[in-house]
Amino acid sequence: MPDPHAICSDFSAHFALRPRILVRAPGRVNLIGEHTDYNEGFVLPMAIDRATFVAARSRPDQTFRVYSAQFAQEDEFHLQRIERHPDAAWPNYVRGVIKGLLARDLPLTGADLLITSDVPIGSGLSSSAALEVAVGYAVQVLNNSNLLGEELALLAQGAENSFVGVQCGIMDQFVAALGRKHHALLIDCRDLSYRPIPIPPDVRVIICDSGVHHDLATSAYNERRAACHTAVRLLKTRLPRLTALRDLRVSDLEVHGDLLPPDVYIRVRHVVTENQRTLDAAAALEAADLVAFGQLMNQSHQSMRDDYAISTPEIDLLCDLARSVPGCYGARLTGGGFGGSTVNLVTLSAVEAFTQQVAAGYQTQTGRVPQILVCRPSEGVGRLM
Ligand code: ADP
Ligand code: MG
Repeated sequence: MPDPHAICSDFSAHFALRPRILVRAPGRVNLIGEHTDYNEGFVLPMAIDRATFVAARSRPDQTFRVYSAQFAQEDEFHLQRIERHPDAAWPNYVRGVIKGLLARDLPLTGADLLITSDVPIGSGLSSSAALEVAVGYAVQVLNNSNLLGEELALLAQGAENSFVGVQCGIMDQFVAALGRKHHALLIDCRDLSYRPIPIPPDVRVIICDSGVHHDLATSAYNERRAACHTAVRLLKTRLPRLTALRDLRVSDLEVHGDLLPPDVYIRVRHVVTENQRTLDAAAALEAADLVAFGQLMNQSHQSMRDDYAISTPEIDLLCDLARSVPGCYGARLTGGGFGGSTVNLVTLSAVEAFTQQVAAGYQTQTGRVPQILVCRPSEGVGRLM
């Protein structure tokens, strides 16, 4: 974690005054429950111990000056004229959140913000949500308002959807806002109710970035969503009360699968079984049954590979390498697919062997060095100073 004193010194060096507050919001990883969110199902993410930090101080005027250490750039805008940045993308994450706060009639003054982060950017660990939630929280602390938890998550998601123009779900912002130390969150994407599920202290969640990201991810994502939409339409002819695939049980698949063309049927089979696996995995974790949890992770991966067809050879290789290490309970693709990262549950005593063996095996077979992060479940957004 970046040293808070160093962050404050950077702020002082940049803005010539000490910051008044320092806020932290974490990145996240999804342990299980992939492509279930837009089907109104369940997901089981946790906040990780990598985070975005915002040091901040109010200004007497209506101006925002925002410096990102990662981009080594400053953005400046006026509260009464918040528009999309003409050239750069990153300022829009900040501008969108401030605009969202104003739209909720919160009286704001200007501020100086310094952003820094140790969440890898663009690796699927949601540096974007960490940034939005940290900025939203910091600006509210400066202005004595308290739109927190779910409301802050929805505001941050709204900024990303409508101001940045990325159609993300609510999971990332939800975890950045509400993550809990030592816990994952079982989130019901239909009504946003959630339950913290403890993660035992003697395991680590390890994220392996394949370093491969395919351009077809967005179009394939839209295609998968369309298949789910088609399935609901077809199933409704016999099941009028069904509004999303979340309403279909695994046993219903046998009975009503004849309504679906084969290519849609296998997509639906992933979503429906994945939803059940996520509930089963949460129950296994609650019972501290890590073996059962790991098996569900492995089954989840198989389903994403064979039925949802969103894995890649590199991701499959990372999973195979992981499972060959004694002490690894389970391994699976995490995130939308077509590259990206795997998530692995590993007993504490095997962490070193895991990172060495997976890195060496992946490099030998692909020529690429995977980025490997050993993570612990951490707290959602909060104030450090
Ligand atoms: P992910 O959320 O998986 O890391 P995204 O593409 O959704 O990837 O979001 C990454 C974008 O979020 C960056 O390109 C940048 O615009 C913005 N961002 C994330 N972290 C920072 C940061 N520390 N400073 C400025 N912008 C950031
Ligand atoms: Mg993102």
